[in-house]
Amino acid sequence: MSSVVENYQSVNRSLQTAIIDAARMPGSVELVAVSKTHDAERIAPLIDAGHRIFGENRVQEAASKWTALKAETDNIVLHLIGPLQSNKADQAVSLFDVIETVDREKIARALAKEQIKQDRKLRYYIQVNTGLEPQKAGVLPSETVSFVDLCKNQLQLDIEGLMCIPPIDENAGPHFALLRQLAEVCCLERLSMGMSSDYETAIGFGATSVRVGSAIFGKRDTDN
Ligand SMILES: *Cc1c(COP(=O)(O)O)cnc(C)c1O
Repeated sequence: MSSVVENYQSVNRSLQTAIIDAARMPGSVELVAVSKTHDAERIAPLIDAGHRIFGENRVQEAASKWTALKAETDNIVLHLIGPLQSNKADQAVSLFDVIETVDREKIARALAKEQIKQDRKLRYYIQVNTGLEPQKAGVLPSETVSFVDLCKNQLQLDIEGLMCIPPIDENAGPHFALLRQLAEVCCLERLSMGMSSDYETAIGFGATSVRVGSAIFGKRDTDN
């Protein structure tokens, strides 16, 4: 068996244990396998093993790998988890099924326009900069409620939930707790939070979606 599939099964077991430990419903957390930097040959065994939900952080890279993979496999659900430029909104809307990184009005408007143009409906998350990091993408916690309102009610985007990437040098727990609290205020049910190092913690804080890359595919040579 491929090492990727073995890693995947082991992550899946830890995920199920974390769900039980948190006294949550079986099946209440989806696993987004983050395949960025890995090529189609490395991804294929996981698709063969039945996995369908994948995450990529660059539109161009994702298009080069997933256009073919999606054409030959039913029910692939592709998440964009990296920053999006509005000039790539057309490509993003045609390729992805879920965009997790909506964080400013310009991009929200571009996505709304493209959806109509392409007659496609995607699902979306609002990225929140819970650590107030100047270099990081995401809306500020204080702006989240009004931004969600704009996206949902004015632009008719199907906003499912909130997403965050906590600061690397901090305990992630308080960031997960803040994201959950903001989602409750916004009446949103889904939370995309937790990566290889902290997905079990995130499940304890209510994550409905965890984004796991290196624990499945191994260490990346280049982290982009
Ligand atoms: C790369 C990436 C991940 C996965 O990170 P790992 O530590 O490899 O699990 C999750 N979320 C985002 C936004 C990423 O860019």
